[in-house]
Order: sequence, then C-alpha cells, then structure tokens
Amino acid sequence: MIIRDISMTIHPHMTVYKNKENKQPLFLKSADFETHGVYETDITMNLHTGTHIDFPLHTLKEGHNSDGHPLSTFIGTAKVFDLSQIDECISKADIEQLNIQKDDFILFKTRNSFRDDFDFNFVYLDESAAQYLANKKIRGVGIDSLGIERNQPNHPTHDTLLGAAIIILEGLRLKDISENNYEFICLPLKIAHVEALPVRAILIEK
Ligand SMILES: [Zn+2]
Repeated sequence: MIIRDISMTIHPHMTVYKNKENKQPLFLKSADFETHGVYETDITMNLHTGTHIDFPLHTLKEGHNSDGHPLSTFIGTAKVFDLSQIDECISKADIEQLNIQKDDFILFKTRNSFRDDFDFNFVYLDESAAQYLANKKIRGVGIDSLGIERNQPNHPTHDTLLGAAIIILEGLRLKDISENNYEFICLPLKIAHVEALPVRAILIEK
C-alpha cells in the first residue's frame, strides 16, 4: 500500500491566493518552556488556506455550511484525470469524453501542480464544465489551484457546483500522481457553521 499526500503544507510563508498579505497564516508562540513550562502555538488563518473544501455558503447566501455532511462524502474512490496539457481552462469539451459518473469524486491534475508559487494565470474550471459536472450529479470535484475559477464575473463555477451540492476541493498537489482510480480520504476539520474547512487529503494505491 502506497499513501500519497496530495495536501499543501501550512506554514507562515506558504503560497496563498493572489499572494494577498491578509491571507498569509500567522503563527504566534503563545507559551514556551521559559515562561510556561510547555510550548504552544496560536495560528490565525483564513479557512481557504492551503488544501481546503468550499461548502455552498462560500458563494450562496442561503447555502449549506460545514455542518452535517456525512463522512462518506469525504472517503471513497477518487478518479484522477490528467489534463496537464490544457493551458487556459477546463471546459465541457475537455471532459465530456472522460468516464465521469453519478456520485464520483473527481480530481483534475493540471499544469498548476508543476508550480509552487502563485500563478495568476492558473488553469481553472469554466462554467460549461461546472454545468456538465452538475448534470452528471457527481459528489465532489478537486483541482490543483487555490481557486477553482478565476476572472469569471459572479463566480458561476462556484455557484453552479455548490448549487448542485457538489463539494469543491481546492489547493491539491498532484505533480507525482498519475491518472488512475485511488482510495481517497480528505477529512475536514470539525468546525461548526463555516463556509470552508482545511483538509488533509491523501490517495492510497493498492
Ligand atoms: Zn475556497
């Protein structure tokens, strides 16, 4: 059994969305051995830091938050599709010949996985692809960028997927992962009433 970690490492100088300073996680030593006899760290960070799930509340005012999702949503088989030849965006035409079925959790590997800095021209999933996946009634979709879309007015990719109760997983690292089916686990932290949650995402090769 080979376990592949496909998560970003969270640290103070990690890559964040559009390199925004206010998205950089803050690490503060709140106790040390000299003052308290133990060592503790406080972290302040946006919930969309690193590898994370977006829930419907992220872009839909009446959307569902992090509460109440069965753990089976986050565990099962994932299908990884290698789309690293695409330069701009993933459209319906790029995915309609792929084997995508109802309840699938699919992960798109793109050229984004081969860069560790923030690429302002990252490959994203466009509205036509989101609509296709919504019609297929998949369970979840993951991508190797910190956003699943860019430069689409009114974020239709998010609205379409989240409106169809499809989980969005952003910030994957798939450079060393080949196209295949894998056992997949991406457990979110158990934080109530929020619109996004960090996850540790792994693939298991049998
Ligand atoms: Zn997000």
